[in-house]
Amino acid sequence: MIINNHKKIGEKLELFFFYKNINTGLPIWLPNGIYIYNKIKNIIRRINISNKYLEVNTPLIGNYSLYKKSGHIEKYINNIFKILYKKKIYLKPMNCPYHCLIYKYYNNISYKKLPIKIFEFGTVFRNEKHGELNGLFRTKMFTQDDGHIFCKNNIEIINEINKIIKIIKKLYIKFNIKEYYIQLSLRSKDSNKYIGIRKNWLKSERILLSVVKKNNIKYKIIYGEAAFYGPKIDFIIKDSINRKWQLSTIQIDYNTPKKFNIKFIDNNNKICTPIMIHRAYIGSIERFIGILIENSNGNLPIWLLKLQIIILPIFNYNDIYILNLYKKLKKNKIRCNIDKTKDNINIKIKKYEKLNIPIIIIIGEKEILNKKIFIRQKDKKFSISLNKGYKYIINYIYNN
Ligand SMILES: [Zn+2]
Repeated sequence: MIINNHKKIGEKLELFFFYKNINTGLPIWLPNGIYIYNKIKNIIRRINISNKYLEVNTPLIGNYSLYKKSGHIEKYINNIFKILYKKKIYLKPMNCPYHCLIYKYYNNISYKKLPIKIFEFGTVFRNEKHGELNGLFRTKMFTQDDGHIFCKNNIEIINEINKIIKIIKKLYIKFNIKEYYIQLSLRSKDSNKYIGIRKNWLKSERILLSVVKKNNIKYKIIYGEAAFYGPKIDFIIKDSINRKWQLSTIQIDYNTPKKFNIKFIDNNNKICTPIMIHRAYIGSIERFIGILIENSNGNLPIWLLKLQIIILPIFNYNDIYILNLYKKLKKNKIRCNIDKTKDNINIKIKKYEKLNIPIIIIIGEKEILNKKIFIRQKDKKFSISLNKGYKYIINYIYNN
């Protein structure tokens, strides 16, 4: 039995849906879902801006030569969508090559300008096999909170990685993700899979291991799972049936900057190649939302919801008593609405219970007469005076 299936819950809560046989692996976002999606983006954007990232946007398609240069064509040809009528154009599988081009735009800059940090909500496409697609967890198109940091030396790399880990930990607390571990992915003995020189691999593997140890997070070392250009640490989270999914990632790369011939000038006026960190705080936003849904069994944090309170009048749709309460809640930045449709009250209650709206307020003649409101929540139903009820609501919304 599949419990907490995010696909089922997401469709019930009207967050997104998959249109059968037509858009396998391609979620269609509905207003409730895109609200959460954008809210997550805004949180990440704020973090990036306060950490001095440059936000960019790069094309959704790319030339053969770009991905040939980065090495992605060679490694992932079967996972890259080719645009049929033009053989040499691909749907973007990775954002990194474009971010290297952006660095190149500023090329030969002084070491004083480093680290240069670039980020993008980068939509990418992967031609996954039908059997590997899985709700929001594995889709054909998704958006990563993708960032690349170009550093001048190891100290800078260590500093930046520590900062990234701190941010990831804070984000997990904010989104109530409690159980996770780090997978430290290193090379296997099969050296043909990887590019670059041994010395740099050893250096970056050592850096990642020391940073992971210092940050006191449970970790496992897996050989053979490194990216072809460098070792990485991935944050692994389990879904409701204990399958493991990677969310955040941090990767050290000595090789891609060389391929793109990007440079900086060091303090001795020497031309040097920067070292690149690939990082995503949450990875695919789609997968992240899937995990949030399964983790909470559809009871998402209240601050993330498009609709926090619904007021259901019985007949007196425009009564000043109801409108005043609505205005007062709105003034307190509570996202609420009045359902003025003429449906039967029980039908309306069912509709909002299905959507997991945290507080349903019912107001009829009796409530207006006695200056009360009737509150319905998942685990309780009660009548309360308007003033006390109002205080209860504010307290509930802001402390949950
Ligand atoms: Zn990258």
